[in-house]
Amino acid sequence: MRRALLVLLVAAVIGRSEVVYKVRLSAGEGGAVVELPQERYVAAVLAGEVGSFRNEEALKAMAVAARTYAAYFRSRHRIEGYDFCSTTHCQRAILKDAGGRFKKAAEATRGQLLWFHSKPAFAVYTQDCGGKSEAAHAVWPAAQAPYLAVHTDPYCRTNSRAAWTWEIAAPTLSNALTQAGMRVPARLRQVTIVKRTPSGRALTLSLAGDGESSLISASSFRFAVGRTLGWRTVHSDQYTVESSNGKIRFQGRGRGNGVGLCQDGADEMAAEGKTYRQILSFYYPGASVSVLANDVKWTSVRSPHALIFATRKTTAAQAARLTDEEMSALQSRYGLTAPANLKIYVYPDMESYRNGTGEPGWVAAHTLGTRIETPPLTILQQHGGFRPVIRHELLHAIVESAAHPGLPLWFREGLVENLSGDHVHFAPDAKSQKRIERSIGNREDAARTRNAYAAAERHVARLRARYGVAELLRWVREGLPDEIARSSTSSKPANSK
Ligand SMILES: [Zn+2]
Ligand SMILES: [Zn+2]
Repeated sequence: MRRALLVLLVAAVIGRSEVVYKVRLSAGEGGAVVELPQERYVAAVLAGEVGSFRNEEALKAMAVAARTYAAYFRSRHRIEGYDFCSTTHCQRAILKDAGGRFKKAAEATRGQLLWFHSKPAFAVYTQDCGGKSEAAHAVWPAAQAPYLAVHTDPYCRTNSRAAWTWEIAAPTLSNALTQAGMRVPARLRQVTIVKRTPSGRALTLSLAGDGESSLISASSFRFAVGRTLGWRTVHSDQYTVESSNGKIRFQGRGRGNGVGLCQDGADEMAAEGKTYRQILSFYYPGASVSVLANDVKWTSVRSPHALIFATRKTTAAQAARLTDEEMSALQSRYGLTAPANLKIYVYPDMESYRNGTGEPGWVAAHTLGTRIETPPLTILQQHGGFRPVIRHELLHAIVESAAHPGLPLWFREGLVENLSGDHVHFAPDAKSQKRIERSIGNREDAARTRNAYAAAERHVARLRARYGVAELLRWVREGLPDEIARSSTSSKPANSK
């Protein structure tokens, strides 16, 4: 595999080396908005949400769930100028604890998401389902998540934390609910469950006292109580309720809404030797774990030079037309022909491109053998167009497929840089320059990589002036003449990958 600097430059404008989230730290950590690379954010969420996990496979399962959750809910706080808060509203995150085993679990599953129909899954999770998970649509009626159905959970059952009891004086409860803005009958005496969800959790409650009784949703009730009387009260909606002698008594199981991965169950599964993939497929059956959106539905158009894939026929046709024009130009200018079996994949969005190629966002296209993968046309059109990118990648595919064994990298990269022409080189503005540097990690490396490519291109340009293009292309197939290979060792770029 290769990455050209040009591609790097083009791509630096498009994305970054990694998904980066703007996260508002908790008040305890200063409350500032910070930019966190995806994996660092995932590690911080592990520290915040499941710091008590005893088992590494369970941590890894949660890392995938947390990463997917973030991908799904990205920019939730856009209006406030960041992506996520650090409370349970989004995911609890503790940055100062994001090292050690949390960092390890994030790294071990780097980039992996749960996918369903080529989109990140609705990867919600719950502290403890109390032995029976809830269906997503019972909590979020609009959720399209058939993998989040009611099922029993034998793994969290044995956990003693599952059962809970909470008793409160009726007037205290009445005050709390009123304070939370709910309509409560005067002199509240009785709370009854009038409707349950498919898993048997409370869905609708009736509050009875003097006058007309009122109906409220169990989840609104639970949040109202949590906000006013604290969260160690009604832990879930899975309970029975009795009202007598001015007291209301809840007896329940589980913690949280019971939807998705059950944290207590996941830790128990790992303790029993299950892998993180087994844990995820137990809690999100039908969603697939991968870095790739492997269920992107491709459609293809055949062009004279390649088979072009996109998710829409019109996009594939447009990419095919541009590819043919570029390929024909390379043919008439240099006598090049496209390699057999050339396939070009145009991804529908950056998310699936990043995940589908396993490439960080700053690579504008990706060529492996005779397979070229590019970001969406619309994105490329905003950043210099599809043409220079596809020309560059076509040259790579041609050179790589014809390359004589042992043909040095500097020659292959330099030749592609040179043949693709000046107009594809552009000087990034100061802002994108900064991004490139951040992408690569530090200034020295960015500069060295840039210099290496520039040196390779200059060297090839000198050879081209002296021997001509046809001769250079012959060297691609037959290998470098000894004297060129020898004389070039001194100017061979040190770091050209
Ligand atoms: Zn939030
Ligand atoms: Zn459970």
